[in-house]
Parts: sequence; structure tokens; C-alpha cells
Amino acid sequence: MNHGLSRRTVLAGAAAATVVAFDPAGLGWLTAADATPSTAVDVPDFDGELVRDDAARAEMADDYGFLVHELPCAVLRPGSVRDVVTMVRYANKHHLQVAMRGQGHSSYGQAQVAGGVVIDSRTQAAIHRIDPDRVTLDTGVRWLDLVTATLQHGLTPPVFPDYIGMSVGGTLCVGGIGGASSHHGLQVDNVLELEVVTGAGELVRCSATEHADLFRAVLGGFGQFGIIVRATLPLVPAHTTARVFRLSYPDLATYLADQRIAMADGRFSYLEGQAVPRDGGGWSYLLEGVAYYTPPDAPDDTALLAGLRHTAADVTEVSYVDWLNRIYDIVEQIKAQRLPSPGMDLFVPDDVIEQFTAETLAELTPADTGGGVVLLYPVPRRLLTRPFVMVPDGDVFFLFSILRVVAPPDDEVARAMVADNRAIYERARELGATNYSVGAVPKSPADWRRHFGDRYPEFVAAKARFDPRRVLTPGQGIFG
Ligand SMILES: Cc1cc2nc3c(=O)[nH]c(=O)nc-3n(C[C@H](O)[C@H](O)[C@H](O)COP(=O)(O)OP(=O)(O)OC[C@H]3O[C@@H](n4cnc5c(N)ncnc54)[C@H](O)[C@@H]3O)c2cc1C
Repeated sequence: MNHGLSRRTVLAGAAAATVVAFDPAGLGWLTAADATPSTAVDVPDFDGELVRDDAARAEMADDYGFLVHELPCAVLRPGSVRDVVTMVRYANKHHLQVAMRGQGHSSYGQAQVAGGVVIDSRTQAAIHRIDPDRVTLDTGVRWLDLVTATLQHGLTPPVFPDYIGMSVGGTLCVGGIGGASSHHGLQVDNVLELEVVTGAGELVRCSATEHADLFRAVLGGFGQFGIIVRATLPLVPAHTTARVFRLSYPDLATYLADQRIAMADGRFSYLEGQAVPRDGGGWSYLLEGVAYYTPPDAPDDTALLAGLRHTAADVTEVSYVDWLNRIYDIVEQIKAQRLPSPGMDLFVPDDVIEQFTAETLAELTPADTGGGVVLLYPVPRRLLTRPFVMVPDGDVFFLFSILRVVAPPDDEVARAMVADNRAIYERARELGATNYSVGAVPKSPADWRRHFGDRYPEFVAAKARFDPRRVLTPGQGIFG
């Protein structure tokens, strides 16, 4: 999309909020309405627009968590990849920091930039090409819009997160885990090629064979090395229908044992599950297995349930796309209420998951989560390929994800939940767990160093190489 907006057209009388100059000596971004000091320098021409009005900046100072509010001094709505290159180069020259923001579903300011520039990827959301085995798209595209388009061709990306209103760039930057990860790994393990604007402002096409070091680093690199502007992702044939098995378990040990069985033999196309607060206290467990199929073929229910020891089974059917999009409406409702949502996500080693879950849930009441559930499902480590997606040692790890919401909004309650997240993270870390850093767990640079462990020198070296002035994505807090 090209808005056709340049500095000259702005000066000729466009909106007063549009930035026309930058004063590195202290006044920051200037609009046509401001007096221009002698220290001011021109703002480059953009195909899109660079704005600093209060509403635009306030929107970028918030995210799904409603916990961190760092106000940028301007917002770029890029009209082209060239705009992203121009902005990053400008940031290097004038000691600014920038971050791309996708759909803002981080919970703790990960896409925010105090005093810097947020690049809003929503204006970069075209699907360029769909082939029988791949799709090339701008990373501002949401997974929902992507699958809607590919299904027209009977095709689908292999892995989705639970909520598909996130941008492709937003999940490729962190990992992207979901029910199909037991077959395909994370979303970052399912990428063919990228176009990246490095922190130094170079536009680089990269893949497993071309600039492979950049390719490996940016996938799950928390936006530290480059802004991913385009991606080519693999597509596989899509089934039309999802048969959903919800299996109940009163006790944790049996639930975990059955999760391991189902993961090991891959009987379900999708495997997730959760701990659910029980009326009267305590938790019960729900294994969620889904078989994708296309009639007249049909799954063999007896084979799918063979050997599992659930106490009750609920079997339903929905279309494939409705299954992928199952929590969209509820998430949109939560967002509309602007409720603080201090969730947290951990990857916990299989050999301690039972002990860790039992101890953690013993102290967690529905009031501590706002009624939210705890996601709990296994993933085989061998499918993970990216160096900076840190998961525990061992063949299998579990996602342990506490979904929290503060309703009605209450800052003190939200702060207590964040502090609780931190305490749980520290306990988990002692047991060999890692934090999947999309939620509200405050972490210092020292925590990050420990997080990356013996990969930390490689992470720092990649930062020095691709983003030497450290202009990119400060909201992750990795370098302080
Ligand atoms: C309701 C809900 C459900 C979720 N379910 C899952 C799930 O099932 N599985 C899962 O893995 N995660 C899940 N998440 C977490 C989610 O995947 C991450 O928070 C993701 O980063 C959000 O994407 P976004 O487009 O909203 O990105 P934003 O929040 O806008 O940005 C996230 C980070 O990515 C960076 N970034 C964004 N775009 C780019 C780009 N193009 N290039 C480089 N860096 C970029 C930002 O600077 C920021 O650091 C869930 C989150 C929510 C709120």
C-alpha cells in the first residue's frame, strides 16, 4: 500500500500531527505547527506516514497486558519496505530506538519504545503469492487472514497459535507454539525464506542456504537483529473438518501419562490440554485432541482413544477454520474491556512437570488467575531448530501457561499477579524450565543472560553484527 505521502506534501498542508522534522538536540519530532529550531534535521520522505499525534502514540504505548505504558515519540505507518529501511537507517544516524509492532498481543511492553519510534506493521499486510507448497506475504498479515486466503486454494500453514489474530511477524519473532507443534515444531521451524531489515538498516533476503546466520537468528530472536518484513512459509493440504475430543481427568499423573502417550504416537493432528479450576477448589485436567479429516473419510474414534484412561469424553465437530479461530471472539471481548492480563508462559522439562505442576497449582486459586485456565501440553524437542528459542534439556518439554485476567481492572491485583509470575518463574528456573517470553514476567539483563546460557555469547555476537547500535526492540529488555 502506498499512501503517497511525502515530506513535501505534508509541508504543503497535511495533518498537523504529521512529523516534518527531527531535533536531535532535544525537542524531538516536530510537526508543521512547531517552530523549527536551527538544530532540526529533515525527516526523510516516506511512502507512508510518520505521525506523533496523541492517539497514535497512546495506542502504541499499550498492548494486550495493559500493564506497561511506554510512550513513543512517533509512529511510522510504513507505505513500503523502503520506509522500514529508511526509518531504521535514520534511527541509526540519530541515536533513536525503534520496534515493529504487530497486533500488540504481547503482555509486557515487548513492542513498546519509550521515546522512540514504533513501526506499525498493520499497513504492511499484503499476501503476495500463493503457490501449491508455499505463500509469500508481508509480516503485518494476521494468521487469520492468511489462512482465510490459503484455504481458498485448499492449503494451510502447518502450525497455528491458539489465537490467530496475531501478526505473522509477531509470532515469528518469538516462536509460535500450538496444538500442531507435536507434529511440526513451532512456527519458526516452518519458514522457507525471509526478507529482513537488519538493525544496521540493510534489506537482506535470507533462508537456510542464503545468509543462513541471519535467518537462524531472527526466527525467535525477539526482534533483536532485524525487522522481518516479508516471509515465505510452507503450505500443506488442508482438511475441511476437525473432530475434537475433550477428555477429562481428575488426577494429574494420569493426565500427563496420557498426554505423553498421545504425543509419542502422534494419533491426534492437534494435541493440547489444560488444568481447569474445579468447583469447590483444586484442579481437574482436560486433554484436547483433534483429528483433522475430509469427509467421506472419517477418523477411527476407537483407535484414537485406545489405551487412554480419561473418565469422560466429549466429542464434537467443527469446520477446520472454525477450530483454528475458536477463541477469537472471546479474546476480542477481553481486549475491548481493556482488562489487565498478566499471563505467563514456561517451557518445563518432562521429568519435573508433575512435581512443578502439583506444587504450583496447590497455591493457585481461581482468584489468582481471574478464573483463567492453565495450558499444559507436551512438545517433542527434536522438532525445534532455532538457536535462540530456549527450551529445557530432554526429549520432551511441556508448555505451562497461566492465563490471567484482572476483572474488574485493579492495579494492585495486577501488580500482585506479576510478582507471583516472577516467583513462579524463579522456582521453575531452578528446575530447569525456561520462560517463553510473551507474557508478563519481569526479567533483567542478567536473567536474559541466564536464559540463553551457553548461547548467550552467540546472541550478543549476532546483536553486535546485525544491530551494532542497538536500535531495535528495546521493550524486550534483553540488554537493559
Ligand atoms: C490471547 C493470546 C493468545 C496467545 N496464544 C499463543 C499461542 O497459542 N502460542 C504462542 O506461541 N503465542 C501465543 N500468544 C503470544 C503471542 O504469540 C505473542 O505475544 C506474539 O508476539 C504476538 O504477536 P503480535 O503480532 O501481537 O506482536 P506484538 O505484540 O505487536 O509484538 C511482539 C514482539 O514482536 C516484535 N515484532 C512484531 N512484528 C515484528 C516483525 N515483523 N519483525 C520483527 N519483530 C517484530 C515486536 O517488536 C515485539 O517485540 C498469545 C497471546 C495472546 C494475547
